Amino acid sequence: MDLLKQKITDEGIVLSDQVLKVDSFLNHQMDPVLMMEIGKEFARLFAEEGVTRILTIESSGIAPAIMAGLVMHVPMIFARKQKSLTLRDDIFVEKVFSFTKKETNEITVSKKYMKPGDRVLIIDDFLAHGEAAFGLAKIVEQAGASVAGIGIVIEKSFQQGADKLKEAGYRVESLARVASLENGTVRFAE
Ligand code: 5GP
Repeated sequence: MDLLKQKITDEGIVLSDQVLKVDSFLNHQMDPVLMMEIGKEFARLFAEEGVTRILTIESSGIAPAIMAGLVMHVPMIFARKQKSLTLRDDIFVEKVFSFTKKETNEITVSKKYMKPGDRVLIIDDFLAHGEAAFGLAKIVEQAGASVAGIGIVIEKSFQQGADKLKEAGYRVESLARVASLENGTVRFAE
């Protein structure tokens, strides 16, 4: 997606060889016009998948996911991140290790909002090692629903997440694929 790549080139800050900061349009301040274009692109890519719900994780996944939901006319749910929970039977829970924060969170979704038979499109802002996406997919599967696909705004293709998700049989569509962040520069994959 050229508009997104241009935005990353103009405004992205390479924090290290591993981490890209995009606080000006996705992770802190959010660009609604760009988010809408991202939503349209996810809707176009997954138009034939029979999507009934969109699932993301708070907080940076919410903007692209709600825009996709708006275009596709389906509800959007965001998984909540919580430190540690006492056992409850009204929520689905999975453990997710956070790549950027180096801590494990439990992510939760209410059983009210995910039902058997749902076709769920998973959306997230970044894909690194695939922890968040696998956690979300496990919640979908706990609910007896199926994963319609995984839509990622920025994939770091030099990390293992995309390959692992594809090997597990999921359809992954990333709108920008970063091949390397070496020498403080963003290099995109073809
Ligand atoms: P994964 O679970 O695939 O290892 O990492 C994806 C999650 O970690 C995303 O939800 C995102 O919040 C965060 N993340 C991973 N890499 C980056 C990065 O380079 N920049 C930012 N801003 N977030 C990242």
